[in-house]
Amino acid sequence: MIDDKKPLGFLFSDNRILLPKEEKDFANILLELYETKKSSQEDFWHYGGIYQEYGLFWNEIASPPEDLLQESMHFMNLRDAATLYGYDVFSLATKITHLRHWQKRTCFCGVCGTPTIPLQEEEHARKCPQCDSVFYPQISPAVIVRIERDDTILLARNARFPGRMHSLIAGFVEPGESLEDTVKREILEEVGVFVKDIVYLGSQPWPFPDSLMVGFSAQWEAGDICVDNKEIVAAKWFSREDLPNLPRSGSIAYRMISQWISEKNSNLVKQ
Ligand SMILES: [Zn+2]
Repeated sequence: MIDDKKPLGFLFSDNRILLPKEEKDFANILLELYETKKSSQEDFWHYGGIYQEYGLFWNEIASPPEDLLQESMHFMNLRDAATLYGYDVFSLATKITHLRHWQKRTCFCGVCGTPTIPLQEEEHARKCPQCDSVFYPQISPAVIVRIERDDTILLARNARFPGRMHSLIAGFVEPGESLEDTVKREILEEVGVFVKDIVYLGSQPWPFPDSLMVGFSAQWEAGDICVDNKEIVAAKWFSREDLPNLPRSGSIAYRMISQWISEKNSNLVKQ
């Protein structure tokens, strides 16, 4: 029951989310935000969903609330939150951001255009009262791959990356593909090499706006690097002594590259 959960309030302004400056005590700060807005306006909050012992609520505001917990909270980009916060706060922010995105896009039935209603409390589903269509949050899986060749990994520069940053190859799963199919296709399309020995490494919710990044390692099998010059403008095999600017910490790409660096270092120690 939602009544048994601690209600937490999340405010959004454009694509920024209001989060506590200090991570410790984050639940009490978000609870206070919920109560403050609730007492000033009874039906202020939209119900977002449940996460562990918390009920999640959200709303939009045009500008930062000057009177409201200004000392203890700040608006921030969710990508920055990935770097600044630990797992709990980032997971909460990720979940409410994804659910808000889904709710805003399912206000109306995609089949007949009638306004939708929640299917039932505590379930992330909306229903059309006219044609009975039911809409669940959609998750778009994407793969991200650490391609290894001897003591090097392939890092690439996407045309959208800032500065000289390089990262791993990533791409969305297409209809009819297994994750392994996507790994092979994306790598061949973007950098022109064939891979084998695909191994799952981990995953991370990535609500920009509704993705789940699934991380793999793969071994180079054949082919010379040949970038597509559309998404990828440069790519190269890098050794750990000669790494370019990497993605920021908090991202699964950073974690996968760091893991490779420490694995290589510990192999050296063993030798
Ligand atoms: Zn309908």
